[in-house]
Amino acid sequence: MSFSEKVLVCDQVDAVLNNTLQKNGLAVTYEPQITPEELAKKIGDYEIVIVRSRTIITKDLVEKATKCKILARVGVGLDNIDTDAAKAKNIRVINAVEGAMNAVAELVIGLMLAMARDIPRADRELRNNNWIKKELMGTELAGKYLGIVGLGNIGKRLARLARALNMNIIGFDVVPIDPEFAKEVGLMKADLDTLLQSADYVSLHVPLLDSTKNLINAQRMASMKKTARIINTSRGGTVDEIALYEALKSGNLGGAALDVFEKEPAIGNKLISLPNFIATPHIGAQTKEAQSLAATVIAEKVIQILRGVI
Ligand code: NAD
Repeated sequence: MSFSEKVLVCDQVDAVLNNTLQKNGLAVTYEPQITPEELAKKIGDYEIVIVRSRTIITKDLVEKATKCKILARVGVGLDNIDTDAAKAKNIRVINAVEGAMNAVAELVIGLMLAMARDIPRADRELRNNNWIKKELMGTELAGKYLGIVGLGNIGKRLARLARALNMNIIGFDVVPIDPEFAKEVGLMKADLDTLLQSADYVSLHVPLLDSTKNLINAQRMASMKKTARIINTSRGGTVDEIALYEALKSGNLGGAALDVFEKEPAIGNKLISLPNFIATPHIGAQTKEAQSLAATVIAEKVIQILRGVI
């Protein structure tokens, strides 16, 4: 089956996306640096528009996308697409939930180990010719309690990896948790408050919604162990950053590692000055494997939609 639809790819994506679409006869225009003004002029010519994180598909752009049938995000969250506007115009919005699962879960393990052994500081000091072996008394992840908030794709993958490190897994989700999975990882189900009170590490894997805005607030941080550490690789805004700063500075919380921030790029964020804080610049899905998988998933979904299979 050959297709007549035209595809506009607006952000830098793994080559497998364009190759697969072209192999299936689709005409692909690749404009990874396109500006919002240029996009506003061109978007009306394309049936399929594909973005990653840089391009923001606003209501105004959706209005101009008069031929558009599919809006695709080569990633998980759909925060950069006005999905309500798309729905109102009967445009299918698709994403690649599978792509980032392992990449984000591995980053969480890395951040937990970095905090447990103070790896960033060890490296920094040695670069400054300081051999601070005696000060670097760490702790181990084995035997510690990891509280996972949100047991969707990434939360589940993290649970499996953490179990392999002999961590004990406590889990909370607003939807029922699959009993088979719970059995596999020896999951202790808990409500959010119990999870926060019991965990040595708390990792967030929820979407940013009205109900998850500042989910981990000052009051909840105060209920946690003083040695506990928070990891957030989900979305900025789910952890109250002002409360986190106060809790880390006063020693009421052991540490935190954020990959996502309320305002990104988080240059100059006050948290970054704290010694018990680690930051990464939203690199959760930034692996070759995740990008290639997400691009493959989107290419296949586009073809299947055009074939009427899904
Ligand atoms: P998912 O939809 O598979 O899982 C999210 C889970 O959160 C669901 O099970 C849902 O029921 C649960 N949930 C919703 N509200 C909740 C609440 N108030 N309390 C507890 N649980 C709640 O999503 P996912 O693919 O696992 O992604 C999780 C998060 O990670 C998303 O915010 C996504 O945008 C983010 N993400 C970040 C990166 C990165 O680069 N750091 C990459 C990919 C995804």
